[in-house]
Amino acid sequence: MIKFHPSDEMIHQFAAGSLNPALSVVISTHVDMCPHCQKQVLDAEQLMAEQLTKAPKPRLNSHALDAMLEQIMTSQAPAPKASNDDYSNVLNLDGKLFNLPPTLARQQNRIGHWSRVPGKMLRAPIDIGSDECINLIYMDKGSRVPEHTHKGQEVTLVVNGVFNDERDEYTDGDFILMDSSQHHTPETQDEDCLTLAALDAPLHFTSGISRLLNPFSSLFFR
Ligand SMILES: [Zn+2]
Repeated sequence: MIKFHPSDEMIHQFAAGSLNPALSVVISTHVDMCPHCQKQVLDAEQLMAEQLTKAPKPRLNSHALDAMLEQIMTSQAPAPKASNDDYSNVLNLDGKLFNLPPTLARQQNRIGHWSRVPGKMLRAPIDIGSDECINLIYMDKGSRVPEHTHKGQEVTLVVNGVFNDERDEYTDGDFILMDSSQHHTPETQDEDCLTLAALDAPLHFTSGISRLLNPFSSLFFR
């Protein structure tokens, strides 16, 4: 059961197509996994469509306007699947198989090289063609990310497995948003965990020896 969802405002911005590419991928993946948010997105799209059709049309160029509206309405139809349908929805990570939600499966060929990061973790960037940073992060059993804050926002989605921090426990589909005022220490216990994470600024480690990682924090998650 998913406990943590994107805010209504984020869902609305997602439906309107106004989120940055990294956040769009994370929210789209959450929506794949979450019937509740699927309905929220549909409702938001319907509301926007109603607002468009109710908006008064200027007298001039009404034909052009109709054509434009028509185009906007049809562009809101669900994106067609990749025509060749040849992407795999299974991620093979050192022999461990993970089922990927459709949004991530479509990004399979954009998943970069897996590298080891401190704390029994593996990380692979996803190239979404923008400057933002989006990564798949695999936390093995007993992994721990040093306590940190963020200069911007950190968004994490659990794709498969379970992790916890000081606040709560997060499982498949949970969407966690942290801002620069929040400290946390994500860790896994007896289960491993595959997450999708987007950052808009490097991590800032706050405790003990992990402070020494700060000069490298942009390497750590970029
Ligand atoms: Zn949701």
